[in-house]
This record gives sequence, structure tokens and C-alpha cells, in this order.
Amino acid sequence: MNLPENKMSVLKRIGIPIVEHCNLKCKGCLHFCNSNQEEFYYDCEEFERDVMRLSELFDNIEVLILYGGEPLLHPKIIRLLEIVRVYLKKTKIEILTNGLLLPTLDENFYQSIKKYDVCIGWSAYPVGKKINMKIEDTLISEKVVYYKNDVQMFYGIFNPLGNSNSYYQWKRCSGRKCHVLRKGYISVCPAPAVEHIINQSFDKQLDFSTSRLNIYDESIDAEKILYFLEQSHDVCKYCTSARTFIWERQSKPKLEDWYGKVGGNE
Ligand code: SF4
Ligand code: SF4
Repeated sequence: MNLPENKMSVLKRIGIPIVEHCNLKCKGCLHFCNSNQEEFYYDCEEFERDVMRLSELFDNIEVLILYGGEPLLHPKIIRLLEIVRVYLKKTKIEILTNGLLLPTLDENFYQSIKKYDVCIGWSAYPVGKKINMKIEDTLISEKVVYYKNDVQMFYGIFNPLGNSNSYYQWKRCSGRKCHVLRKGYISVCPAPAVEHIINQSFDKQLDFSTSRLNIYDESIDAEKILYFLEQSHDVCKYCTSARTFIWERQSKPKLEDWYGKVGGNE
């Protein structure tokens, strides 16, 4: 499968979870970080291999997002930013963070995000007016390019029975463009990349392996990846209509925290 000669292969957006635990344990975290017992930091060499591979596969990647867990917990985040910029010169780089660590970071960090032209995506949770003011003051005084999403509500979409109509769920899903790369595998959304956390935390044996694509497969090319990312997958049968709830912390999670609406699994 080859693209016509004059057609560029463009991946619009890819997220890379560089850390899988978090300093803010949100109930129903879509990345299951509040239930994760283990610390994971994307290894720098593995990260470089994976980003280099993406840069070989695609003519352009428009947006690359480092997220977590809380990505600012990664001790080598500056090195990771440098790697992205070396291989992806035109890509818009974002760090998606809850912001809690921003006031504690040093000049080296703030100089680096300017050097590598990084935008901060701040998810502002209702953690206290003073804390959020301190975060915003830091962003302003450090002259950071940032955007802010105020978060008040969360939602659960998990159908533990896994009997939803995959195509129907995928077609109306707002997260189906949030593609993820984790340890050499790419997936339509974060769900296939957190299978191991769900299984460890809740003693499950979910298998989302058919919903991930190995970017090192010899027969893979950009068009095959883009086609794969534009399809519903087996994992989508574990999604259902969203059940919304007010954001709160939850350090003793139950799988029910993630459940979606009963009867939303057409
Ligand atoms: S801040 Fe984000 S990553 Fe951390 S627990 Fe909340 S939703 Fe999950
Ligand atoms: S598994 Fe499918 S339906 Fe569920 S969030 Fe991902 S893309 Fe959407």
C-alpha cells in the first residue's frame, strides 16, 4: 500500500504517555493513573527509537503531546523534548499537565521549553484557588506559551461486559482522534495502552492487543497506520455512553468509578 507520489503522509496528532502515575489521583482518571501501583518512566533510548521511527514513517506529524500520568514527574523530560525536536522539526510539541509541579520547576526547564518551542496544556482542576493562581502566575511570569482547560466534571465510559457495538461506539467517540504511542505500539486512543494497568489493578485479563499496531513491523507504512487509526477496534466494545460526575480525588479506586451509562452500549 503506497501513497501517491505527491501525497504527504501526515499524522495529525499523537500522544505519548511518558509517565503512568500521577501526583493528583482523580476519580475515574481516563489513563487509570490513580489505580496504578507502579512507577513507569519512558526510557530515553526507547523513546528516541520510537520517535525516530515515527519520523521515518511520516512526512509530518502536526502535534505531539507528552502526557501521563503527570509528565512533569519524568526526571528527564528536558531530554525527551530535545529528542522530539531533533527528529520532528516542524511539529507542534505540547506537554499536557495538571500544573501542580510548574511552580517548583527551575530556569533550566523554562529555558528548554522556549528553546524547543513547547506549549503547555494546563488542565486546571479545582484543587484550590491559591494553588491555581500560583500555577497561572508562574506561567505568566515565565512567559510560557500555554492554554488552560478548566476541569470541573469527569466522565466514565467503561462497559465491563465488553458487549457494546464497537463501530457505533467508535463513530460517536470524542476520543477517537487521541492516538497514542507507547513502547513501539500505536493505538487509536489511550485505552489499549492502559490494559496492563487495568489488569493489574483489578485482577482482570483484558486483552486489547489486536487494537495496537507495532510500528516496527516490517510490512508497516504510513498509510497502513493511518488506515488502522481510522477504524473501530475490538477495544471499543468496552465503551459505552458517558456517565458524567463532579471531579474529585480518589486514592482507593473501584472499577465502578469508570463505568459509563447503563444501557448505553448499542
Ligand atoms: S491529573 Fe490527569 S493523569 Fe493525573 S490522575 Fe488526574 S486525570 Fe489522571
Ligand atoms: S476504545 Fe474506541 S470508543 Fe472507546 S475511547 Fe477508544 S476509540 Fe473511543
